[in-house]
Parts: sequence; C-alpha cells; structure tokens
Amino acid sequence: MWVDHNSKKIISNMGLISGKTKLLGIIGDPIEHSLSPVMQNEALSHLDLDFVYIPFPVKVANLGQVLAGFEAIGLVGFNATIPHKQAIIPFLNEVNPTAKAIGAVNTVWWSERGWQGTNTDVIGFISPLKRIERNWNKVKPVILGNGGAARAVVAGLAELGCSQINVVGRNKDKLAQFWQSWQDSPKISALLKIHYWENLPSLVAEADLLVNTTPIGMYPHGDRSPISPEIMSKIKPKAIAYDLIYTPSPTKFLQLAQTQGSTIIDGLEMLVQQGAAALEIWVGQPISNEVAEIMMRSLQQKLFG
Ligand code: NAP
Repeated sequence: MWVDHNSKKIISNMGLISGKTKLLGIIGDPIEHSLSPVMQNEALSHLDLDFVYIPFPVKVANLGQVLAGFEAIGLVGFNATIPHKQAIIPFLNEVNPTAKAIGAVNTVWWSERGWQGTNTDVIGFISPLKRIERNWNKVKPVILGNGGAARAVVAGLAELGCSQINVVGRNKDKLAQFWQSWQDSPKISALLKIHYWENLPSLVAEADLLVNTTPIGMYPHGDRSPISPEIMSKIKPKAIAYDLIYTPSPTKFLQLAQTQGSTIIDGLEMLVQQGAAALEIWVGQPISNEVAEIMMRSLQQKLFG
C-alpha cells in the first residue's frame, strides 16, 4: 500500500515496485492476520524508501529452505512470528544476548556475518513505560502469565531497572520450567520470583505495575478479564495496568483498572515500537516519533476503522 500524502488517497504501490526494490517480510504460520505488513509498508512509503514488506506463510519444517532462499534472493531482513520465534534460532549465525536470554527472536537481518537475530519486543514493551516517571528500582511489577510474551516483559523490566520481577502462572510445572529457563542469565534470574495463580489477591494489592501477558480478554472474548472485578478492586490507584492485548481497546482488564484510577496502557504501542525498532535495523536509519505515529494510525485504521 502506498499513501499519496498530498491527496491523502491510499493507492496500490504495485506500480512503484522496480528491479531495485529491496525486500523485507514476515514469516509465520498462519500469517494472513498479521498487522505488520500494514504498518511497515506505510512507514516505508512515508520515508520514501524503495523497500516492500511481504507476508510469507512458512511451515516450521521448511525454515531452513526458506532462509537459504531468502539469502539467495538477497532479502534484507524479516520478522519471525508464531511458531518461528524459537525455531529460527538454530538457523541464525548470530543471536544477540537479550534474544538469547529470552530464547526467542522476532527480527532477523542479513549481514556480512550471515543471518543476525534480535528481539525487539523488549524495546516495544518498555517504550510506553519510559514516558512514565517512576523510580523503577522501587516499583513492584506483577506479570500475569508465563508464555512467550512474558519472557520479553521480564527482560524489559530488568532493563528498566526493576529490582524484583514477579511472575504469576496457573501451571506449576510450566512455572518451574520458566524459572529454570532463566538460570543462564544470572542478572535476570536474581530478580525473578514465581507465584501461583491462587496468590493473585495479595499480589494485585501490592503491585505497582500489573502486566497481562495472557490472551484472556482478547477479541472476540472482550468481556473476559484475567482478574475478577473483586480482586481488581484491590489494585492501588497509582498502579499502572498494562495489557499486551491491543484489541479490543481498552480490554476488560484495563477498564477495571481504570475504574480504580490506575494508569492504563494497551498493547498497540508495543506492537508499533517493536516494528519501528526492526525497521531501524533493516533500513539503517532512526525511525522518528512522527513515523511511529503514522505506523500507529495505520493500525488503528485497520483495527478500528
Ligand atoms: P503464549 O505463549 O501462549 O502464553 C500465554 C500465557 O497465558 C501462558 O502462560 C498461559 O498459561 C497463560 N494463560 C492462557 N490462558 C490462561 C487462563 N485462562 N488463566 C491463566 N493463564 C492463562 O502466548 P504469548 O505469545 O505469550 O501471547 C500472549 C498475549 O500477548 C496474546 O494475547 C498476544 O496477542 C499478546 N502479545 C502482544 C504483543 C504486542 O506487541 N502487543 C506481542 C506479543 C504478544 P499456560 O502456559 O498454563 O497455558
């Protein structure tokens, strides 16, 4: 898609693709519902860069072949989404320490040293928090869920300077595995405490930052919340409630927190900022707030009309 910024008309960019156009993309399975092509192509056209960002449906079994193909055609870089974030790692020549600690890569680019991988979800997650003035060292964060996204949240909170990170899960075996998986990252594992779902009432009452990384409340189940209204009524008015879900906006969880006077953050800015950080790597130039705003608006238009 290409936007004619003078006439504000959205027109097809097919005619703009030439023999010089550079390729970017995203691999996933399924990939049809990915929002990344919308915001990335919008940013590329605004920046007047001769790139195009394409969704590629890729099965895990074909990852090796796909990477060899990407190398052969000179693809500049790509995003990896479910189910490839972990599976891609053995195919990469270098993975940066943050992505290694998280155990997941969402951004890959070709370099002289081969395929490089990082995880820009961490930057995306902390981006809206950085604007809020807090002494992060004193903040008590509580993370609901211990899946893939929770791993980027843990790394992000460590980067922000939190001196403890509490993770709450419903499955004791998976929680134990989660804890174990951080043992090669001493700085992070020293901050990490795991808790069982039954302890939520006291954890919610003590939290300064409550992050939902479970899919509870995501469209089309917008009437659900990971925490009941009764327990949410215990949240501190000065707490921040952050939901990684971006549709609906706000989620039930955020609505309940807002009723108590808490500051709320939904997952849309995380999505935009992880994309902006990836784009910065691929095109080798900083992505301004103005461009991030344009990416945000393209997503809002797509999601909410
Ligand atoms: P995931 O790996 O499947 O993890 C989901 C976690 O939620 C697991 O720990 C799971 O527990 C827990 N959970 C699910 N249902 C639950 C329930 N009824 N009660 C308690 N815990 C429950 O998924 P993910 O990749 O981390 O994604 C999680 C959410 O984050 C999704 O909504 C996704 O859209 C969102 N997300 C947003 C962004 C963004 O940019 N804004 C980025 C990434 C993810 P079990 O392990 O026990 O099943």
